Amino acid sequence: MADAAAVPFFSARGAAFGIDLVPVLAGVVASGRYVLGPQVGAFEAAFARYLGVAEAVGVANGTDALTLALRALGVGAGQRVVTAANAGGYGSTAIAQLGAVPLLVDIDADDLTLSPDALAAALGQGGVAAVIVTHLYGRMADVARIAALCQQAGVPLIEDCAQAHGARRAGRRAGAWGAIGCFSFYPTKNLGALGDGGAVVTDDAGLAERLRALRQYGWARKYEVSLPGGINSRLDELQAAVLLAKLPRLDAANAERRAIAARYSTAFAGLPLVCPAAPDQDHVAHLYVVRTGQRERLRAHLAAVGVASEVHYPLPDHRQPVFAGAAMPQLPVAETACAEVLSLPCYPGLSEAQVTQVIDAVCDFFVGRRRC
Ligand SMILES: *Cc1c(COP(=O)(O)O)cnc(C)c1O
Repeated sequence: MADAAAVPFFSARGAAFGIDLVPVLAGVVASGRYVLGPQVGAFEAAFARYLGVAEAVGVANGTDALTLALRALGVGAGQRVVTAANAGGYGSTAIAQLGAVPLLVDIDADDLTLSPDALAAALGQGGVAAVIVTHLYGRMADVARIAALCQQAGVPLIEDCAQAHGARRAGRRAGAWGAIGCFSFYPTKNLGALGDGGAVVTDDAGLAERLRALRQYGWARKYEVSLPGGINSRLDELQAAVLLAKLPRLDAANAERRAIAARYSTAFAGLPLVCPAAPDQDHVAHLYVVRTGQRERLRAHLAAVGVASEVHYPLPDHRQPVFAGAAMPQLPVAETACAEVLSLPCYPGLSEAQVTQVIDAVCDFFVGRRRC
């Protein structure tokens, strides 16, 4: 994750939100409770309150969150689950774990999230067991319309919020729109642990109870397996304590990300480069993603001057080697996006000077001088 670039793609110091985490960890070490203890309980309660949902259930990672969400909703082998093809493959991985089938639909050309029109067409064909919408790059999808379409069709909606902790539209946070919201606390996420972690959130007490059983062997109580399909996917106390300490500063960290994104977009306004829309409350700038037909050349130019960049994501799900030979749909918008997207450094702790360095490097590439 960390590298020696002048402007790296991730900062461990920035990710700590200015908190000394060592005493937090020491407290857990001394407590003697390490898995699903009081820190997990306290974090679950705080995270649910922050999101405005009834229940949060800590799990081991974001991919398990998606898998457990599907399982709690009763999705099983052979059933079809709608998801977008440009969102990193996490949804498809979770769907495949259940023996279910990803029904990949195309994305909106402006915001690169699940297209409501494409979703409506897929739902119209029938036979859809669930829908996963990913709030990609930190920007909320058209979740009001998507939720309405799902409700009309009687199909449960799962929000993948692994890049959108704290995003809010019409007073409602990402994760509070669907039947279940799924989060990852991988260290680079907007709310990150010092290792793996995840959560599943819901307003439905019955779903929450199933999720709590499924994350721990399917137990209704200790050593009594009552639900099929249970796994071991628990959140540990060290990670929960870190997340609990960081949560009160999440909104400020998101504001810092947004301010960096706004600086980039202002600076790049005259360049032949597609920039994301100005980040509002419903965009927590998890990634600052530009689009250009000259991606590989721009990336090489940035690397040469010490500016790290990444591609999220180079291959749409249906072009992944694991699906080679299977009949796959044509998804022109997703395919073009995957060929053009480039993520620039955007995270708390990135200094003004570093942001200027990124801006200068991008301007230099397009117009041959620093400052565009
Ligand atoms: C990171 C991520 C995941 C997976 O989370 P893990 O904790 O790495 O399993 C799922 N969906 C999206 C959109 C992500 O960015």
